[in-house]
Amino acid sequence: MPELPEVETIKRDLKILEEQKIIEIFRSDKKMRISSSLDLQELVGFKIVEINRQARYLLIKNNNQQTLIIHLGMSGRLIISDNFNKNKHDHFACRFIDGKWLIFNDPRRFGFIDLVLDKNLAQHKMLSKLAVEPLVHEFNWQYLRDKLSKKNLNIKTAIMDNKIVVGVGNIYASESLFDAQISPLRISSSLSIIEIKKLVASIKKIITNAIDNRGSSISDYVDTSGSLGNFQNNHQVYNRAQNPCVICETKIQRLVQNGRASYYCPNCQT
Ligand SMILES: [Zn+2]
Repeated sequence: MPELPEVETIKRDLKILEEQKIIEIFRSDKKMRISSSLDLQELVGFKIVEINRQARYLLIKNNNQQTLIIHLGMSGRLIISDNFNKNKHDHFACRFIDGKWLIFNDPRRFGFIDLVLDKNLAQHKMLSKLAVEPLVHEFNWQYLRDKLSKKNLNIKTAIMDNKIVVGVGNIYASESLFDAQISPLRISSSLSIIEIKKLVASIKKIITNAIDNRGSSISDYVDTSGSLGNFQNNHQVYNRAQNPCVICETKIQRLVQNGRASYYCPNCQT
């Protein structure tokens, strides 16, 4: 599933669409996870003015005071192409005045496309309860200490909680905890201030490195040109069960927490 670094990579790729006018829309009749608030045909004739990202949501603003929210779900892809062939899992596409197409393909249909008025964006049910982004200044050790102080659940599940910090998914939670040398089994409220400081620094470092490497391609993530990300080559623990730890050569362990696989070194992470 695309996490923050992958969605940020797509957002940066989509910048080439700014100032482009939409001249044609395609919409499949398949149902997505949520249906669009406004008719997607309303996009025709308007220009894209800004492309943003909030957590794992892409926000494409036009000059008609509307924003197109795109969520890639588990398997969604956004492709910029010179041609549009209406492939089986293409659910939405728009053609720009220069002839290029932006195509949304999603075989598992956990993603969605929602066109909303700008004035309703902040109250959108998927956006209104999101916590801070990991790379902003407001995400710091004092903030995380306050969020974790009464939490009895394990630290891996806590840093994946969108009400604490957004966009730290399964891959980057495992990698950040390894970098900070903290076991994913630790109870959140048991972390010392030194450990919380290390963890905040590690989350920022891992997410930044992943964006610099255009994200991780584990199952089906590709960027808008269909190319793979590179950060999977830098994973230290994720998907490396039974391989030696890069620091101490102890075998990396896999366990399931909250329904998700965690990977860690039982010697380095305590
Ligand atoms: Zn180790």
